[in-house]
Amino acid sequence: MAQSSNGLNEQGARGYFRDKAVLITGASSGIGEDVALGFARQGARVALVARRKDKLEDLASRINLAGGRAVAVSCDVTKRADLDSAVELISRTFNRIDILVNSAGILIPSEVEKMNPADLEKMMNVNLYGALHAIQAVVPIMRRQGSGNIVNIASLAGRRGMSPLGGYCATKFAMVGLTEALRMELFNTGIRVSLVMPGVIDTPMTTDAKLSSEELSSLPNFFKLPVRWVTWAVLAAATFGLAEVDVPPGAAVAEKVAALFPGMTDAALAVGSSLMKVAGRFISQGPGGAAEEIQSEVKKVQSAREPRKVAPEEAHKAHEHKSAI
Ligand code: NAD
Repeated sequence: MAQSSNGLNEQGARGYFRDKAVLITGASSGIGEDVALGFARQGARVALVARRKDKLEDLASRINLAGGRAVAVSCDVTKRADLDSAVELISRTFNRIDILVNSAGILIPSEVEKMNPADLEKMMNVNLYGALHAIQAVVPIMRRQGSGNIVNIASLAGRRGMSPLGGYCATKFAMVGLTEALRMELFNTGIRVSLVMPGVIDTPMTTDAKLSSEELSSLPNFFKLPVRWVTWAVLAAATFGLAEVDVPPGAAVAEKVAALFPGMTDAALAVGSSLMKVAGRFISQGPGGAAEEIQSEVKKVQSAREPRKVAPEEAHKAHEHKSAI
């Protein structure tokens, strides 16, 4: 088999995951797509699951033409019945499922105060329930095999709430809790459960989020890490059955230390995100744009430090209330 442009060459035939059957949700784009290519390069048979059939078929044919083995199965992970049929088809095709990677996810940025609950529900449906459906469909197969790996792509936003990602953070915190509980339940069964916790990664998700949110639009692109880093983290998690892998390494440990000082951490993050905005304006609009951003941030800090002016009638009502108590 000749070396191909995808890097899916003879190495695949000797690869670490040779003949392993891997199911990846969210494989039509970003992290899921790169993870599928990563496993295929290591000789695995990959089942590509997401909604967009054309994208999945395109990726499957790229892998197959390069000498790998891939099947495309279009499915909406929010629908349990769809996922059950997809898993049944995949386990019949591959005769087993060794590794499940839950990468399907969506992000709708919004400040908590202005958040539309329907958006939170949409994110929960994909990010949490989608992963749950895949886990529940796959675990009985892995139990029969007596082995398996489940790798859930959560996020550093699942360890630390940040704005304007409150709803998204809530879904990822939930996913972290679910994964940690599952790891306990599957202790000693031969099924290993891992969390991969990426920071900001260069994928369509972050590009779209920057376009849809004014707050995120000024996030400089150099903060984005290459998607390949997450793929390495997933391969490492599946190889060694690691409980948690952060991207960049150690980032969640830093958060655990920061959690000992919540007030200071909030202040540092608030200042840090203001500085990021200034840097983003500087890069996109030059010193003039940055000066405007600095002025607006300084005003916010000043108004936060000034005591709130209370209208006379409000003060009167508060006094009456106090006297009544
Ligand atoms: P992406 O938008 O490039 O890919 C998301 C994938 O999920 C796509 O294939 C999409 O089709 C699929 N998907 C969405 N809804 C679905 C549904 N209902 N049914 C089936 N598939 C569905 O985003 P990405 O950056 O590759 O994100 C992958 C995972 O990594 C997500 O869970 C995301 O939350 C997480 N993550 C991303 C980042 C980042 O900075 N990009 C950081 C931390 C965690």
